[in-house]
Amino acid sequence: MEIIIIGSGIGGLCCGALLAKYGFEVTICEAHSIGGGAAHSFTRDGYKFDSGPSLYSGMSYTPSTNPLKQVLDAIEEDLDWVNYDTWGCLLPEGDFNTTVGADDFCKTLEQIRGESAVREWRRLQQEMEPLAAAVNAIPPLAIRYDLSAILSIAQYLPATVWHTPNILRLTGAFKSIMDGVVKDEFIRNWLDLLCFLLSGLPASGTSGAEMAFMFAEWYKPGVVLDYPIGGSGALVDSLVRGLEKYGGKLLLNAPVESIILKNSRVVGVRLKGGKELIASKAVISNASIWDTLKLLPNNRVTRKLIEARKETPECESFMHLHLGIDATGLPEDLQCHYIVVNDWQKGVTAPQNVVVVSIPSVLDPSLAPSGKHNIHVYTPGNEPYAIWSGMKRNSPEYQAQKQARSQVMWQALERVIPDIRSRCEVTLVGTPLTHKGFLRRHRGSYGPAIEAGKALFPGANTPIPGLLCCGDSTFPGIGLPAVAASGAIAANTIVPIVQHLRMLRDIGL
Ligand SMILES: Cc1cc2nc3c(=O)[nH]c(=O)nc-3n(C[C@H](O)[C@H](O)[C@H](O)COP(=O)(O)OP(=O)(O)OC[C@H]3O[C@@H](n4cnc5c(N)ncnc54)[C@H](O)[C@@H]3O)c2cc1C
Repeated sequence: MEIIIIGSGIGGLCCGALLAKYGFEVTICEAHSIGGGAAHSFTRDGYKFDSGPSLYSGMSYTPSTNPLKQVLDAIEEDLDWVNYDTWGCLLPEGDFNTTVGADDFCKTLEQIRGESAVREWRRLQQEMEPLAAAVNAIPPLAIRYDLSAILSIAQYLPATVWHTPNILRLTGAFKSIMDGVVKDEFIRNWLDLLCFLLSGLPASGTSGAEMAFMFAEWYKPGVVLDYPIGGSGALVDSLVRGLEKYGGKLLLNAPVESIILKNSRVVGVRLKGGKELIASKAVISNASIWDTLKLLPNNRVTRKLIEARKETPECESFMHLHLGIDATGLPEDLQCHYIVVNDWQKGVTAPQNVVVVSIPSVLDPSLAPSGKHNIHVYTPGNEPYAIWSGMKRNSPEYQAQKQARSQVMWQALERVIPDIRSRCEVTLVGTPLTHKGFLRRHRGSYGPAIEAGKALFPGANTPIPGLLCCGDSTFPGIGLPAVAASGAIAANTIVPIVQHLRMLRDIGL
């Protein structure tokens, strides 16, 4: 084969499917029995659960600015999406629903903060408008890490020139943009929360680019959010379909034990059990950077990468509840998503302070048996791994800590469904150790905590010939649109420029 990809996260699948479409012989080696990494779905007693993401936008129309949708367009795959526009907020200010769209958040603001807060929000929207245009001026799918980038990006440069001052602002922290416009305490907290949910960092560490993309997606007129019919597993299926129809292969239960180097070049991988797979062109790692480094021998060739990346700071981990419940008598207007913040003073990154609730069977009843709901509650990247590290999963200490630290999720959910504990037919409680095990992620981390303005996410290339990376440890970072972009960028870095340009033209970029 020509290319081996380690890991079938959304980054690896996007990369593999695009490379297969370009005509390369691609094999993806996935350690687990289910593909999709953090975005895989799993089934228990007739309930289909998302292990991770459930918040999507820009997926149900073409052309879209979302790189994930652009990859699906490029590989000529799609799936059905259900649209919605409202989420529930349970905040220190009170419980209310909020709607995406240009004007709707203003109605919420007027009720809880008054006219001056609305004026500030509108000023921020004005400020973000040119930044959003700038962030979309060069599509991430045009990026490649070789000299041919001059050609792939050239066509966007005339339009980009006008955005130059804004492009510079995009690379810095969103906080400096926010500080210039927003004084209202609630709006500042709200923006900090959105930043944290997007990047795992507050406004001081999240890039202006990430927030500009979010503003362009969520706060424009008539916008809706999307949820994949069949859950996140349906997205994974469509990427695997794309991979396989162009001749690519996904090997499940195929953990890579080490990356093989010969004559100072990466030439393949060794699977657990000893089988060797040779790649004539490249090996691309979709595993997190910490997990990738563990696969490399430490020698003269690899040292530069290991030294440069081993201290990559990490976001914290997750607690999870996956519940299958009896839905009898629940209100008709139950939302798919609720966000719970217990105390703004503690900060959005504080452990046990922010909880996310997702009830996707509200949007897609096929995910649960008739008359039931599936629920995923989690603490988003704020559970310290250190307090779990080294614990034995069957020990009484572990069980007690699991019980104690899951209470914050039950309490959050009780604010939505007061009698939740008596409705459960399936109850699965996950800790950072579960997260680490099932998602095969170093310390169960959400991803690298690389702070905007202080450092940049590295690109697809590595100093080791024949080894590239994609996924949330590479540019542009964490989240499905970002990892889809990273997978496409790695694929485009390998493909001849003519094919790359043809792909961009075919999908209307
Ligand atoms: C609870 C949660 C909720 C989230 N919500 C959202 C959301 O609503 N919207 C959004 O956009 N993003 C969300 N995210 C973030 C998003 O899901 C991730 O950023 C993204 O899925 C990461 O994809 P990835 O390709 O980088 O890698 P991963 O998903 O981490 O996949 C890497 C794959 O590599 C495999 N692997 C690792 N080592 C090896 C090895 N040695 N051999 C073989 N295989 C290996 C792993 O098993 C895994 O399948 C959420 C994340 C979580 C955890």
